[in-house]
Amino acid sequence: MGRQQDMYVTRTRAPRPDGFFRRCEAIFQDAQFANNGPCVRELERALGAYLDVPQPLLCNNGTTALMLAASCAGLAGKKVALTPYTYVATLSALLWIGCTPVFVDIDPATLSLSPELLKDAFAREPDIAGVMPVHIYGLACDVDAIGAICAKNGARLVYDAAQAFGSRYKGRSLLDFGEVSACSFHATKLFHTAEGGCLVTRDRAMREALHLARAFGHRGDKHISLGINGKMSELHAALGLEMLEGVAEEIARRRAIHALYDAALADLPLVRPRPLPGLEWNCAYYPVLFPDEAARKGAEEALAAGGVHPRRYFYPALNTLPYLRPEWRRPCPVAEDAARRVLCLPLHGEMDEEDVARVARLLQK
Ligand SMILES: *Cc1c(COP(=O)(O)O)cnc(C)c1O
Repeated sequence: MGRQQDMYVTRTRAPRPDGFFRRCEAIFQDAQFANNGPCVRELERALGAYLDVPQPLLCNNGTTALMLAASCAGLAGKKVALTPYTYVATLSALLWIGCTPVFVDIDPATLSLSPELLKDAFAREPDIAGVMPVHIYGLACDVDAIGAICAKNGARLVYDAAQAFGSRYKGRSLLDFGEVSACSFHATKLFHTAEGGCLVTRDRAMREALHLARAFGHRGDKHISLGINGKMSELHAALGLEMLEGVAEEIARRRAIHALYDAALADLPLVRPRPLPGLEWNCAYYPVLFPDEAARKGAEEALAAGGVHPRRYFYPALNTLPYLRPEWRRPCPVAEDAARRVLCLPLHGEMDEEDVARVARLLQK
């Protein structure tokens, strides 16, 4: 048998180059590289149709999209509740607009923001102005419960849907929940534009505010509101148009690999987060929780020795970050425990049965 290649947690999908280069030629001919050009507008229409959501606003990355969403929801400088079990950008987007983070622990079964604990947080701190839950791994938060709690407390609801592209809950895209949702199109995500992201909202006033704030907050000489540069370039949109073609197939392949993993790992003492009933999961990641930290560490070493490189998504729990103000720290034992025990196994559309068997063999040790 030949030398086996190293396996990583994901592999960035690339479109066929010829289609992309053809689009680039058109961009060079028009010399319009930026500012809401034809590729950006075409990709916005195509994504709206593909996801069956109100036409998204494309952004230069998911973090800017989150900042725009929270800022246009009026949350700058306010208290915002969020999950500590997520990628750091959820938190950093809020900190860059001066929010005070209120960490609310997760549900141990779903690994997403616990509605029960969110209720407690509002009871303790009625001045929480907004909530930013995350559809972690593309799994759905309890959107019905969280939506009801926010409505009851008059809080704004902004979803970090960075990982949720292609997931549907009760037949509706997960990008279509809350007042506004932000998605990431970074190269490591299921659908990508190298760097990029988008915003989805049904609220016309919100859409208008986002549109304005995405491009510096002015129209010509008329300056209306605080803005930022959140625009996507034509080159990135051109890449996205080519990537969109293969995305349904990529999701189907990841679902198949998921099923293979489930079967191959069935007899190991691993716990997986529980999808909400009614969710059609994009199967973007394959997270597993080991019984304890030592088991996780042992598995990581055995996998690495066999050339397999999983990732500790998501470690550490964000409520433990060193640069938080002391008054923002509070224990979130469920998230901290999950962060110590979790690994995301390699998962992408180019894997096959033998790759899954190889990971399973190493884990059996
Ligand atoms: C990827 C990601 C982001 C950041 O998106 P970028 O496009 O990389 O800025 C934010 N939140 C979560 C949960 C993510 O996974």
